[in-house]
Amino acid sequence: MKTAVVGFPRIGKDRELKFATEKYFRSEIGESDLYNVANTWKHFNITSQKEAGIDFISSNDFSFYDNVLDTAVLFNVIPKRYKALGLSNLDTYFSMARGYQGDKGNVKALAMKKWFNTNYHYIVPEIEDDTKIELVGTKLFDEYDAAKASGIETKPVVVGPFTFLKLARYIGEKKAEDFVDDLTEEYVKLIKKLDDRLTHWLQIDEPYLVMDLTFEDKALFKRIYDKITAASGGVRLLLQTYFGDVRDIYDQLIQYDFDGIGLDFVEGKKTLDLVETFGFPKNKYLFAGVVNGKNIWRNNYENSLEIIEKLKSKTNAKIVISTSCSLLHVPYTLESETDLPEEYKKHFSFALEKLSEIKELSVLADGDGNSDILERNKSLFTGRINSVDEAVKERVANIKESDYRRVPDFDKRAAAQSECLNLPLFPTTTIGSFPQTEDVRRTRQLFRKGKVAKEEYVEFNKNKIADCIKLQEEIGLDVLVHGEYERNDMVEYFGEHLEGYLFTKKAWVQSYGTRCVKPPVIWGDVSRKSPITVEWAKFASSCTDKPVKGMLTGPVTIFNWSFPREDISVKESMLQIALAIRDEVLDLEANGIGIIQIDEAALREKLPLRKSDWYKEYLDFAIPAFRLVASGVKETTQIHTHMCYSEFTDIIPAIDAMDADVITFEASRSDLQILDSLKENHFRTAVGPGVYDIHSPRIPSVDEIVAGVDKMLKRVDDNKLWINPDCGLKTRGETETKASLINLVKAANELRDKY
Ligand code: GLN
Ligand code: ZN
Repeated sequence: MKTAVVGFPRIGKDRELKFATEKYFRSEIGESDLYNVANTWKHFNITSQKEAGIDFISSNDFSFYDNVLDTAVLFNVIPKRYKALGLSNLDTYFSMARGYQGDKGNVKALAMKKWFNTNYHYIVPEIEDDTKIELVGTKLFDEYDAAKASGIETKPVVVGPFTFLKLARYIGEKKAEDFVDDLTEEYVKLIKKLDDRLTHWLQIDEPYLVMDLTFEDKALFKRIYDKITAASGGVRLLLQTYFGDVRDIYDQLIQYDFDGIGLDFVEGKKTLDLVETFGFPKNKYLFAGVVNGKNIWRNNYENSLEIIEKLKSKTNAKIVISTSCSLLHVPYTLESETDLPEEYKKHFSFALEKLSEIKELSVLADGDGNSDILERNKSLFTGRINSVDEAVKERVANIKESDYRRVPDFDKRAAAQSECLNLPLFPTTTIGSFPQTEDVRRTRQLFRKGKVAKEEYVEFNKNKIADCIKLQEEIGLDVLVHGEYERNDMVEYFGEHLEGYLFTKKAWVQSYGTRCVKPPVIWGDVSRKSPITVEWAKFASSCTDKPVKGMLTGPVTIFNWSFPREDISVKESMLQIALAIRDEVLDLEANGIGIIQIDEAALREKLPLRKSDWYKEYLDFAIPAFRLVASGVKETTQIHTHMCYSEFTDIIPAIDAMDADVITFEASRSDLQILDSLKENHFRTAVGPGVYDIHSPRIPSVDEIVAGVDKMLKRVDDNKLWINPDCGLKTRGETETKASLINLVKAANELRDKY
């Protein structure tokens, strides 16, 4: 049985690509240096897969920033304002990803969105009415050729035209239908060019097929693939899907002349059902995604083999053992985890380790495996592997309905808070973190290595906090924050202070561009050992007369940005975390913190991809988990929450039902449609729709902010609007942060005069 991998991580074992790219951004290295680093990792990736015995290895799964952006550039979907900068190809590419401010001009970045239900973000292609879709890029071919030159035949990967058109933003009059034929034609050209090279396979990723599809969607798909499948020449086409099952289109999909179809057997609840019900074309390749591309536990061979057996007995397909999605979503290798005891480590599998799992599975599926392999794997799953805490279990079991309800109701609280906090119209604040400068990161690292003593570390952070408070007072912000200097990451930090978590040293996963996260692992039942943030918050508050917001991460986000357990339900896990954070909220309040922000940055991202699952499989327990955290506070304590991205238009009632007093979110990179929807839905919660984009180093002008807020005020009541950046400032530099916030406060003052 053959083996395949959908895609591989590209940041490098030690995030080498990230560091090189950032150096390039700072002009410390040149383009060719950056390419050298990139080529090293491309080469490492394909040779590692080759050595592990993988038959179908991807190329062009590499990216300097994002594969959707790569695809846009490949087909000349480059908005005029970026072309007009007259930069090199690489810099034009980066200007689309990050914006550009310099002597050639001043443009914002393209919008960025969550990639389906992952914590990876893609750049949203923008199609103008006069965009001329044309195969102009060479990256896909270059990467295929380079692999071939090193003796490895790869399957180049490209984001498919259907998914591309569905994810793109159309800024003129024209819509997907107006571009579909041109785009299809260019994909056909791409295939021709591969055919000229005698490329064996092309992998076309169409993850959008796992979404709810309308009649029009299916017609669009047909319009594309009737042509593409007819023009494949000698190149075999693998239609790759992931992140779910393709129930809306499976029966049609198997009619097309694809040489292979990649299906997800991990997240695709109905995948097996579909294959059993509708069959699979004889002698075509079924790429069976049985190795989880998103989680880090060892594969359960018995379960996977059972799926393979069923596929073998029910179809005449050629089965290829594959990953459920790209391995982009898991860290590179366990080899780097030298501090993790073997008793834990043996349960884990990162990208490189998954390669051997795929290989072992293929050997076992052929009946050639020695029984040791299977027995050893079985032993990982027998008995209780995760640690259990009876007290935690009992506490969860004893949660009462009333524990989910905050009293009094919203309006009464709002009145009490306005009296008690006495904030001006359009209060200004930030989302929590301030720039994590070199000294902050270095001191934390040294502390972790035991090279800086605890007292020294605390002293250092206190100085930072004091300076940060002073800076915010100088700037004139109304609600201050302590700056989050002690936190490496908003989830990992809490994980480290909670019982039941395990940590890794280098298990980085790309989030967007050069930004990576290191999700902690939920190993056992979760509880709070002792107060986590209280001392920092208390100290910050002692430095000023202004209110300081306590800053916590909520249970849904802590869960979503961890590698989750698979032996208890999501609901149970979230409630355990909620109880732990609830204790922290109450301790903050008891220590005089009157405003507490509970970040739920990742709430939207794990919303099931299919509407029918939204409530029963997620919101019905995620929203109550948040409420449980906040329901114990006094009426005068103001609860904030923050969500990155404003894509909650469809679930506004659920967001209101979180029953926070204020919600801040990103709106600067999107149109203000979200605010219209909030209005239509009689949203009660006060809002801070971020007035500038922190994902880019660009400094917003006062006028720009005022103009933005003017638009917002057409949709939001004056007394419900907060003014803030759209996310935390940790990734920004100090200079641009200060300049941006000064403009923000100036804008707020102008607005106060005006309204
Ligand atoms: N409070 C966090 C911060 O400012 C929120 C980060 C986030 O939303 N991703 O860093
Ligand atoms: Zn955010």
